[in-house]
Amino acid sequence: SLNRDRQGWIEVICGGMFSGKSEELIRRIRRAKIARLKVAAFKPAIDDRYNHEAIASHNGLMTDAHPVQNAGEISELLSGDIDVVAIDEVQFFEPEIVDICQKLADQGKRVICAGLDQDFRGKPFGPTPILLAVAEYVTKLQAICVRCGGPACRTQRLIDGRPAAMDDPVIKVGAKEQYEARCRHCHEVPN
Ligand code: ADP
Ligand code: ZN
Repeated sequence: SLNRDRQGWIEVICGGMFSGKSEELIRRIRRAKIARLKVAAFKPAIDDRYNHEAIASHNGLMTDAHPVQNAGEISELLSGDIDVVAIDEVQFFEPEIVDICQKLADQGKRVICAGLDQDFRGKPFGPTPILLAVAEYVTKLQAICVRCGGPACRTQRLIDGRPAAMDDPVIKVGAKEQYEARCRHCHEVPN
């Protein structure tokens, strides 16, 4: 027989830096709260660009979030009455984040993940590509390329103002690091 009461699915919001992922995640959380759904938001503890206990967008929007050390902590912290689980900066989690999202969706929760789909080299980033494959709903956002004004799907990494090379994985001590939105044509990764 038909069971139309069954709920639970995965949504992914992806794109480069400045594409509006956090903004869109915060918007979905706000609307879920208006619908009187119980929301729990998480982010990896390593990301504290503006506020340790919040998801923050580049244009100043904010919403409370629990910083977690690893994916397993999300299931540990989650109480049974939560309807919506929101996760920002999902690219920084280990591969097990995928199974955790799948389990939560199977249990009837709406899972919303936001994260970078490509790293600064333009390569698929961490668990995001797998989440894109298993999600019911995918939203891919574009920023504005700072060079040409076109749609930007990439994140340009700059070290002391110069494009970071393929094998420049870690932050160099004393170097000034910056990121900007660029399209595929303006994105540069020297060897
Ligand atoms: P993300 O989470 O994808 O990094 P945010 O939601 O934090 O993005 O920020 C999106 C906001 O960043 C935009 O609404 C805009 O105000 C601002 N912004 C700054 N630079 C750019 C850019 N190059 N392209 C688009 N938006 C930009
Ligand atoms: Zn461009």
